[in-house]
This record gives sequence, C-alpha cells and structure tokens, in this order.
Amino acid sequence: MEPLSEHRFQTRSPEETQALGARLGRVLQAGDFVGLVGDLGAGKTRFVRGVADGAEVPPSEVASPTFAIVYPYDGKRVRLHHADLYRLADPDELYATGFFDLIGAGDSAMLVEWIDKIPNAVPEDALLLHFRAPSLDDEDLREITARAFGPKSAARLEEWRR
Ligand code: ADP
Ligand code: MG
Repeated sequence: MEPLSEHRFQTRSPEETQALGARLGRVLQAGDFVGLVGDLGAGKTRFVRGVADGAEVPPSEVASPTFAIVYPYDGKRVRLHHADLYRLADPDELYATGFFDLIGAGDSAMLVEWIDKIPNAVPEDALLLHFRAPSLDDEDLREITARAFGPKSAARLEEWRR
C-alpha cells in the first residue's frame, strides 16, 4: 500500500534521536499507532524514550519492555503503551498480552518495536518509522523514514515536522 505522506529525518547522535522522539511525543494523541522497524541498535528504543519525554512520562517509569512485551507509560500529556515484539515466538502470544484490546480501546498511543514481525497487527491508519544506519563511516548517523498510512497518521506527521 502507498503511504499518504512520507518524510526522511536524519540524526547524528543518540541525543538527537531522543529529541526527535520528544517532538513526536508532544503531538501524539490517544488512539495513535506508531510502528518502529529497524535492526538491533538502530535507535528505536532511544527514540521511544524521547517520545515518553514528550508525553510527560516521569523519567523513572521508562523501562525496557523486553520481558513484559507490552509496557504502559502513564504520560501526563498522553498515555502510552510501548511494545517490543522482538522475542515474540508466535503471533498468538500477542492476543494473550491484550495488545489488540489496547489498540481497540484507543485511550493510549501505541509504540511498537519490530512491528514488521507481525504485519497483520498493523492497523489501517498507522505511522511507520524505519530506522537505518546508512553509513559504515559514521557510526552515529541514523536515517529515520516516516510513512503515514491513513489521514490520522498523516496529520500527526505534519504536526511532528512543524
Ligand atoms: P534498538 O531499540 O533499535 O535496538 P537502541 O535505541 O536500543 O536500538 O540502541 C541504539 C544504540 O545506538 C545505542 O547504543 C545508541 O547509543 C547508539 N546510537 C548511535 N548513534 C545513534 C543515533 N543517531 N540515534 C540513536 N542511537 C544511536
Ligand atoms: Mg529496542
């Protein structure tokens, strides 16, 4: 499927990636879905930490969701759920976590690392972010391509870029 809109960001440090995430966290709304795709070490979790900053999640609450699979962050601006599907063995496991109920409830923004493992779990209107290290010469360079599938995500991408 073709995205409605697309934008490529570049960052040159982990701090810059976190700051970029924070800008998204300041415009995200309950019901938004953000999928994060990219190799290990590409910067997905660092970005989500920034989103949590922008959503006004107390710093101590931000943890790795590796064991919980889906982890809630109680942001003062907007509530988030952070999921990491890296260790998911079987798509059916995802039902047991309540993942689809959380999407349906729409009272938080979802941030899902490794969403490409379960393409069927991507809602129709989703913002997909591809993280890439484009160069071997520059270890700290990251390219983050955002694609908005659906009007809600396109609006969010627009607000994020502003
Ligand atoms: P992922 O969740 O995609 O596996 P992490 O965010 O956990 O990745 O880790 C990214 C790693 O890359 C960290 O060690 C971080 O310090 C490093 N890094 C170097 N440059 C960047 C950058 N521009 N953005 C994000 N992380 C970077
Ligand atoms: Mg990660």
